[in-house]
Amino acid sequence: MSMLLFEAAAPPFMKNGFVMGCERTREAVYIDPGDEVEELLAVIARERLQAKAILLTHAHLDHVSGVGRARRALGVPIWLHAGDQPLYERAAAQGLMFGLRIEQPPPVDHYYAGDGPWGRVGDYEIGVHHTPGHCPGGVCLAVTRAAGPGSGNPEPPVLFVGDTLFAGSIGRTDLPGGDYPTLMRSITGVLFGFGDAARVHSGHGPETTIGHERRTNPFVLEWRARP
Ligand SMILES: [Zn+2]
Ligand SMILES: [Zn+2]
Repeated sequence: MSMLLFEAAAPPFMKNGFVMGCERTREAVYIDPGDEVEELLAVIARERLQAKAILLTHAHLDHVSGVGRARRALGVPIWLHAGDQPLYERAAAQGLMFGLRIEQPPPVDHYYAGDGPWGRVGDYEIGVHHTPGHCPGGVCLAVTRAAGPGSGNPEPPVLFVGDTLFAGSIGRTDLPGGDYPTLMRSITGVLFGFGDAARVHSGHGPETTIGHERRTNPFVLEWRARP
């Protein structure tokens, strides 16, 4: 048995949306509903998952353009880091800058209460870790199997890192609220702390691991080689 994970991306941004769930209880969360929202809502229905929250890694428009639709379909609370509230409020305006008409998402229900546990999804625990730099309120959502009988051989954490770190690349820091040294400290100080075996699911592109990025990511190597 292992964690349920469904992923989809849609044009124009090809941003990854994720449904993460517990194979035993069928509880699930929807991470970053965007333009792939219909596909992942269909997965939630097909798999008979019980969604309990919409969790946002950050509030750039590609990560929130499906929040309104997901909220209407699932009726669950929306969570965001307070640092991205100004971006969230400008989601529709962000879209117009790209010539896109997107639905302004409904108000956030809860802000993450700082670094630490967010809650349980069945047999899994989700932790929230502030990783600013790409934007002020970026977070990493870290999923681990909850301690209990039969959990003697722990699986590596599964990280949903938004646009902080990509396979072979890093998030852009030229948008409002972005900051390069802050981003690099989030990557090397926060994300690398999860250990080389941690699996990394980024907001765009393929899955990777912390170890692979620590050893080969050119931006990381350049940062570490600075005088
Ligand atoms: Zn972003
Ligand atoms: Zn993105």
